[in-house]
Amino acid sequence: MPTEKLDRIVAEARLNREKREQDYRERALKIYPWVCGRCTREFTRANLQQLTVHHRDHNHDNNPVDGSNWELLCVYCHDNEHSRHLEAAAGGSSSPGGSPADLAGGPATHNPFANLKSLLKRDN
Ligand SMILES: [Zn+2]
Ligand SMILES: [Zn+2]
Repeated sequence: MPTEKLDRIVAEARLNREKREQDYRERALKIYPWVCGRCTREFTRANLQQLTVHHRDHNHDNNPVDGSNWELLCVYCHDNEHSRHLEAAAGGSSSPGGSPADLAGGPATHNPFANLKSLLKRDN
């Protein structure tokens, strides 16, 4: 099994995620004022790229139309929020290239790509 296939799967997962993020980000920015929910910093079109959408339950697939699972956070507060969450999750293993929860849309302990990699190794 060629590794390009794995690369493609990972790339597609990333692309899908980016598309999805753009979609709910636009919706969240229409619903909520452009203010960070933690440090209350205000944003304008000039620096709006630093305002990100956080999922309160950390499930990126949970995007209710009323926006109840979203919170607008600046990139710094968003980082803090996620490192707190990772520390809280018992034995959260570190993985290169981002959190497996982001890729899989599931709990951090489940990483389908890690399994795929070990399967590939066994073939060699
Ligand atoms: Zn902030
Ligand atoms: Zn978040």
